[in-house]
Amino acid sequence: MKIGIVGGGQLGRMLALAGYPLGLEFRVLEPKPAASAGDVAEHVQGGYDDPEALDAFAEGLDVVTYEFENVPRASADRLAARLPVYPPPPALDVAQDRLDEKTFFRDHGIPTAPFERVDDREGLEAALGKLGTPAVLKTRRFGYDGKGQVVIEAPSDADAAWEELGGRPLILEGFVPFRREMSILSVRDTSGNLVTYPLIENGHREGILVRSRAPAPDVDEELAATARSYAQRVTEALGYVGVLAIELFEHEGRLLANEMAPRVHNSGHWSIEGAETSQFENHVRAVAGLPLGTTELVGTSIMLNLIGRVPPIEEMLAVEGAHVHLYAKAPRPGRKLGHVTVRALDEERALERADRLSDLL
Ligand code: AMP
Repeated sequence: MKIGIVGGGQLGRMLALAGYPLGLEFRVLEPKPAASAGDVAEHVQGGYDDPEALDAFAEGLDVVTYEFENVPRASADRLAARLPVYPPPPALDVAQDRLDEKTFFRDHGIPTAPFERVDDREGLEAALGKLGTPAVLKTRRFGYDGKGQVVIEAPSDADAAWEELGGRPLILEGFVPFRREMSILSVRDTSGNLVTYPLIENGHREGILVRSRAPAPDVDEELAATARSYAQRVTEALGYVGVLAIELFEHEGRLLANEMAPRVHNSGHWSIEGAETSQFENHVRAVAGLPLGTTELVGTSIMLNLIGRVPPIEEMLAVEGAHVHLYAKAPRPGRKLGHVTVRALDEERALERADRLSDLL
């Protein structure tokens, strides 16, 4: 069976690496000549919205998936006209637009930060009147890793925020002084069976994920069940197949949904070593129509992203239990170049190993 992946970055690379032991083959569509996934998959070079490239990419594939949520909907539909495409293309609509996403959460009984649509300067004023400050102004589309958003601390900041983001469709959200950020990853197969990974605790710096810990500490069964119910509602509503990540804020004992990613997710990289079946293998199993693997954990895992620079590999590997994953990408400030995971049966030991690795980053 040959699986096509739209996007040739590190997520595609890790999907292919997980799928080869199952006898699966991979092809990626990626416009750039150098694709991280190109080392381990056939690389069709072409634009995501180029009909000829899409057709050449689709030729001979059995199923298509994607590794980023900004796949043009028309391209997903073109592929879906000849092949199964998982996750289903309507999931892209929800994930591509922050207003549609938050509205979707609300419509399915999943709490979010309070939010208002903003289309013009007067609209911003009206939204600030309703939500107050502090608030976060975000572009509805194409924001990632904290880009395309500004915090409005006081009403007097509104002009500067409008100056920066105005002229595009926007959303204003109430600022949530959350206790911490978490995520829940779930996987649904073609028969509708759902498995979930435990809640993950995530740390960000300048809007970029730097560290994930699984399982998140200090999670009671009620919180865990709430997170699972969010995953179940979203995946059922979308007739979903594959891995879905939902990013959450924990605030005053509640879980607010911030966004969802219809794909494997950086906060699940630890699962390569830390779960019986990784998110990558489970995504591949799901889209290939195979039974899902158990998500049981193997101890405590901590994943650290390698951002902008990669410390000497021998120094990272000298830390007991370190598992290094490099993405074959040229260094650039702010770019995710790899990650390293430490796992231990004993939580204290995992934390101590992660501290030693942190010192190298
Ligand atoms: P996003 O692009 O929506 O994932 O936002 C990037 C980061 O900004 C999140 O991981 C949070 O740390 C922070 N953030 C986003 N929205 C809010 C909000 N409404 N209140 C507080 N912090 C937020």
